[in-house]
Amino acid sequence: MDIETLRALHKIFHAVELEPDWKIALDSLLGNLRTQFVYDNVSAYLLDRRTNGQEVVYARAVGRGKNAEADATWGESIASQVLLQDTPLLKEPGDPLPGSNRLLQAHVLGVPLYMGARLGGALVFVRFGGPTFQEEQITLASLIASWTSSLLERKALQEARTDLESIQRQMRLQDDFVSTISHELRTPLGFIKGYSTSLLREDANWDEATQKEFLTIIDEEADRLTGLIENMLESARLQSKTLQFKFQPMRLDALIRDVTVRVTTHHTGLEVNIETEGVPAILGDSVRMSQVFENLFSNAVKYAPGSRIDIALVEKDGRVRVTFNDHGQGIPEDFIPFIFERFYRVPGERSVTGTGLGLYICKQIILAHHGKIWAESVLDEGTTFVIELPSEPISKNS
Ligand code: ADP
Repeated sequence: MDIETLRALHKIFHAVELEPDWKIALDSLLGNLRTQFVYDNVSAYLLDRRTNGQEVVYARAVGRGKNAEADATWGESIASQVLLQDTPLLKEPGDPLPGSNRLLQAHVLGVPLYMGARLGGALVFVRFGGPTFQEEQITLASLIASWTSSLLERKALQEARTDLESIQRQMRLQDDFVSTISHELRTPLGFIKGYSTSLLREDANWDEATQKEFLTIIDEEADRLTGLIENMLESARLQSKTLQFKFQPMRLDALIRDVTVRVTTHHTGLEVNIETEGVPAILGDSVRMSQVFENLFSNAVKYAPGSRIDIALVEKDGRVRVTFNDHGQGIPEDFIPFIFERFYRVPGERSVTGTGLGLYICKQIILAHHGKIWAESVLDEGTTFVIELPSEPISKNS
């Protein structure tokens, strides 16, 4: 190998060292390599230790046979042989049949990929129509295989780091949750204890109206406590997938109207505007579905106080779409991706009571209905929650 080739290879390997993204680095390595090492297709196979099968983790077609790009099966058999024999292997085509396209005759080279000290996979190159791979090129292919292995290890490391970050975030949220929930449980308990102690005081003589007022507060706070505990249990059941759903054909517009009546009886003065174009029925669990809208109403009342709520139902491509829109403070864009996570609360929201469970519960219920829920928000203009659910064709005319 001459000095120019060595310089060119050094340049290629150095560029790979500098690139943090494993996929871009591997693209650059195998792409730029073609100036020194000609091939048409390359695929990397890794051994899946659980199934003992092999998985294609990278495939690239650059030369002839380019339309075979998606189909990386061409290298599978040589990859398994490399994995069995733990050595580079070369497979030459037989003599071409008369009239067949010589250019499609495959010269295949497979070299082992080592992950740490263990044989972990194979890198396979193909040249259609030759020339065959020479001794020097086989050695070069083994060198490329070690770089590819370290990039694939980098990939595994990056994935492990992402998982770890998500677990760490979940643990932090769980820690916050313990302090939030103790506060949330103590507040209604404090009211219940305070007002019942007052009522029981022997030295006080409460008139009937005051007694009723105190008892109403106790009653409401006990309801709040029950709701809170139910939410916690519900979220635990949804998390462990043990919550049972009873699906039957139901009308979402009627259900939303019912929930609205209940909510507005409680929050007099709340303005709700519902627009519906007679959407078809869906297959749903009406108790759970009511819970979704109760949560959305409860959030709108908490985070967009005094705002009108606009609800619209439309049918779109065999799906029922509900938009639930308030005109409150909105949610900063950076936080929107997290609001459906369990225990997540937007930072700075401490003055408003909450546990970070409501939207998690909504999302899990909608997912169990094979639907989707997401939020769109503009700061100081408001938030729209969009729900899409498959409609139930059988009961369309019911
Ligand atoms: P909680 O209300 O108990 O904090 P949720 O899961 O219901 O938990 O909501 C998560 C977060 O999303 C809330 O902390 C709040 O910051 C934000 N949020 C939810 N609904 C709205 C809304 N309508 N307007 C503005 N922010 C909202």
